[in-house]
Amino acid sequence: MIDVHCHLEQKDYNPDRDKVIKRCQKKMDAVVTSCAHPDDFDLTLNLKKQYPNFIYICIGLHPEYIKELKPKQKTTLIEKIKTNKDSISAIGEIGLDYYWTKEEDYREKQRQMFEQFISLAKELNKPIVIHSRDAHEDTLDILEKTEARQVLLHLWGANQLVPRIIKNNWNISFGPILLRSKKHKKICRDMPLEKIMLETDSPWFGENRQRNEPTSVEKVILRIAEIKKLDPKEIDKATTQNAKSFFTIK
Ligand SMILES: [Zn+2]
Repeated sequence: MIDVHCHLEQKDYNPDRDKVIKRCQKKMDAVVTSCAHPDDFDLTLNLKKQYPNFIYICIGLHPEYIKELKPKQKTTLIEKIKTNKDSISAIGEIGLDYYWTKEEDYREKQRQMFEQFISLAKELNKPIVIHSRDAHEDTLDILEKTEARQVLLHLWGANQLVPRIIKNNWNISFGPILLRSKKHKKICRDMPLEKIMLETDSPWFGENRQRNEPTSVEKVILRIAEIKKLDPKEIDKATTQNAKSFFTIK
């Protein structure tokens, strides 16, 4: 099992981060943690150094933070990504969030920044992990326009656009929301197994609003198996293989 999208840098894990990771190591092949704010860069990079063959990292800029970001912070972030490129498995999460951002000028900034990070990923030859909320059409338009190839859409929620995703040969990761959402069930049913990965977005999406942990991908496997009418072992094997090749995990 591999969780391809969680946030181990969040302060929720400050009291017992190493214990959480040890629990994951008992059951899982790898965990991909995602740094979405420049302030979390160093902590994320240290996790990679501490657990080099188990923790893999994505570095990006969540569209929601663009409002508060100073130009200098962005330039520094890009420099740091370039300097540490060998430790970084993908650029993400990047994308568009029109749910938290209503102002048109900030939405325009998000689109510009999104394109900028896509070209950074191309320059560094890295795959990209996408966040998209209430901006699904614009997200796909930009991905198509920039001819992005190695794409993972995290928590994707627009089932009517799945044919476009399949046509482009992109991937979707499914998390605990699949346990209760009909829309996500449809997406999962329609996506080919070779294009599916597992995620938790931990610490969020825990049961009863409690802190979540990457090990809960186990439940997602069972749900996918139910939806696709396949053996859970087959889902585990395929999603692990997909994650390994997408993030270059040995
Ligand atoms: Zn996330």
